[in-house]
Amino acid sequence: MRYISTRGQAAILDFEGATLAGLASDGGLYVPQHWPRFTTAEIAAMAGLSYVEVAVRVCRPFTGDCLDEAALRQIFTIAYGRFAHEAVVPLKQLDHRHFLAEIFHGPTLAFKDIALQALGLVFERFLGRSGKHVTVIGATSGDTGSAAIDALAGRAGVEVYMLHPHGRVSEVQRRQMTTVLDGNIHNIAIEGNFDDAQALVKAMFNDAAFAGRFPLAAVNSINWARLMFQIVYYFTTALSLGAPHRAVSYAVPTGNFGDVFAGYVAAQMGLPIERLVVATNENDILHRALVAGDYSQGVVQPTDAPSMDIQVSSNFERLLFDLDGRDGAKLAVRMAEFEATKQMRLPEDQRAAAARLFTSARVDSAEMAQTMRWALAQSGELLDPHTAIGLAAARRDTGSAPMVTLATAHPAKFPAAVQAACGVHPELPARLADLMSRPERYDVALANLQAIEAYIAQRAKAK
Ligand SMILES: *Cc1c(COP(=O)(O)O)cnc(C)c1O
Repeated sequence: MRYISTRGQAAILDFEGATLAGLASDGGLYVPQHWPRFTTAEIAAMAGLSYVEVAVRVCRPFTGDCLDEAALRQIFTIAYGRFAHEAVVPLKQLDHRHFLAEIFHGPTLAFKDIALQALGLVFERFLGRSGKHVTVIGATSGDTGSAAIDALAGRAGVEVYMLHPHGRVSEVQRRQMTTVLDGNIHNIAIEGNFDDAQALVKAMFNDAAFAGRFPLAAVNSINWARLMFQIVYYFTTALSLGAPHRAVSYAVPTGNFGDVFAGYVAAQMGLPIERLVVATNENDILHRALVAGDYSQGVVQPTDAPSMDIQVSSNFERLLFDLDGRDGAKLAVRMAEFEATKQMRLPEDQRAAAARLFTSARVDSAEMAQTMRWALAQSGELLDPHTAIGLAAARRDTGSAPMVTLATAHPAKFPAAVQAACGVHPELPARLADLMSRPERYDVALANLQAIEAYIAQRAKAK
C-alpha cells in the first residue's frame, strides 16, 4: 500500500514512511492510495476470532512489506495483552437497541491506548531496524498525551514532547502524564487551549528550518497508523452484533474526527454500517458542517468533556479529500483558505454525500448529565462525560440498526463531572490507585512558537 498526501504535493510513502512522518511535508495528511475492500465472505470468516486475529486481518492490507502478518500478530499480542479485559473491547447492552463498546480498558483508561500501545511497538520496530531516532511532538486535550506517554516511556530511540493546555485537563489526566518521570518524556503545559497547542505542533512541523533539524514524528490522530488500529473495533463489535449479515450503527463522541473517521474507513472496507452519528458538545463545528455545510471555527468553550473541546478537527480533511474527488491540488487551496479565514463552506452536493453516512448531534451539558443519570438508572452503568454525549446522540437517532455508542473513557478519568451528575464517585481501578500521590514533573510555557522550539532544541537530539 502506498500513502499519498491530502494536499497532493508531498512524497508518496510506504506504511513505514507514513507512520514515521506524521504530517505530510505539504501540510496535508497521509491517506492510503485506495481503500482495500473485503468481500462479505471474508468478513463473515472473521466472526468468532479473537481481537488480535481480527486486528491482523483488518490491518494487513495497509502495511505492505513493512509489517507482515507475523509482525502484526506479535505487536497486537503484546499491546492488547496489557488491557484489563480479555475481550479487549467488550460490548455491554443497555436496552433492546443500545450497546456500549468499551474501548477504555487500556493502561490509561481512554481509547487512545488502543492505537498508541500498538504504535509504540511499531515505532520501536521501525527505529530498531534502521538505527534512527525520532522526536515525537504532540498536542493533547488529555487522553492522547497520557496514552502516548505510557506507550513510549523509556523506549529506545524515542523522545516525547507533549503539549497540553494548562489547567484545562482533568487532574487524573494531568497526573497520568506528569507522573511519568522517564528521561525521554517532557510535559509542557501551554498557557492556552487545545487548539493553540495543536496549532503550535502543526507550526513546528511546517517550519522547514526546525523540522529539518529534528526527526519529527507525530502521535496525534494526524498519524495514519493510529486511525488504522481504530478500524479494528468497528469490525469486532459489528461482528458480535450480526455483521456482515446485519448492519450496525455507531455513535461516536468526536473531537478531532479521528475515531469516527476510522468508522468511515471500516465502511469503505465493506463493513455494513448504517449510520455514523457524530456526537459533539457545545464545540459543534462538525455538527454545523454536517447539517448546514458551515465548517467555520468558533471560540473553544471549555466543557466537562475536554477531549471534545476542539474547534478545528484535523481529520475532517481526510473526509473532505474523499468528498472532493481525492484532488489534492484543489484541497490544498481550500485548506489554505480555511487556515487564513477560519471558514469553509461545504458545497451542498458534498455535504449531502457525507450526510448519507454521517449524521450528527450537538449535546449540551444538561443533556450530558441527564444521560449519565439515565444510564445509571436504566442499566447500572456509570458513564464518563464523553461517552454520555455519545449516548445522548445515539438516543436521538431514529434508525433501526443496533446502535453502538463508543465508550471512549473510563468514568474515573473524570470523577468531578460524574460525581456532579450522578452523585457517585467513580473509583480508579486498583492499578492506578496511587496516582494522586505520585510526584509530578512538567514545565509551563507561553503559547509561543519560538519559545517552544527553543525549549525542544535545548533538549532534543538533532538528526
Ligand atoms: C480523544 C477522545 C475523543 C475524541 O476522539 P477524536 O478521535 O479526536 O474524535 C472522545 N472521547 C475521549 C474520551 C477521547 O479521549
